[in-house]
Amino acid sequence: MRICIFCGSNSGFDPQFVDEARELGRVLAANRIGLVYGGASVGLMGAVADAVLAHGGEAIGVIPEALVDKEIAHHGLSDLRVVGSMHERKALMADLSDAFVALPGGMGTLEEMFEVLTWAQLGFHSKPCAVYNIGGFFDTLLAFLDQLVATGFVKSQHRDMVRVAHSASALLDRLREDAPVVVSKWHDVPSTGGPAPRKGR
Ligand code: AMP
Repeated sequence: MRICIFCGSNSGFDPQFVDEARELGRVLAANRIGLVYGGASVGLMGAVADAVLAHGGEAIGVIPEALVDKEIAHHGLSDLRVVGSMHERKALMADLSDAFVALPGGMGTLEEMFEVLTWAQLGFHSKPCAVYNIGGFFDTLLAFLDQLVATGFVKSQHRDMVRVAHSASALLDRLREDAPVVVSKWHDVPSTGGPAPRKGR
């Protein structure tokens, strides 16, 4: 099994982020779960990969050519795949992985996590997706997702696809749980297809 981890190319200001990223790397290696990630040697990305490698695990990096120098590609990995674009990077990371996890990070992390979530809600894959909520980092994002449900833009079943864990071992447990039932993305389109009849006519 391989898990794709999206996380910051920075480390964040709270040392807990790096500590927990390293602990997750250790837990992955101990459970013989391979890491798939963006291939950088810096930030939380580098911290997870270094910990996996230090504990004898497998770490596969996927990085676009244009970022090899900027993100300081990690050259000590089990495998470093250099690809042509961000799109190829995300597609290959997804293909190589059985589950997706976001750790604290910036816009790149959020973009990557939300892409796999949008693919899941459209039924393009059924791989589990989780956030590792270190120090409550994702609390405001999870509350915003609740707001998207309350305002009718996301179904609660799709909101529930975002599994949440507060420790590395709980994270693996959450990923092993059964997937929620897949439902149609749209509130106002019958699942057989075609637009819903307009109200009041
Ligand atoms: P960040 O969370 O912004 O530090 O970025 C974490 C990772 O996401 C880094 O490897 C970035 O190269 C990557 N990234 C940033 N923007 C994007 C994007 N639009 N699509 C895919 N990956 C991205």
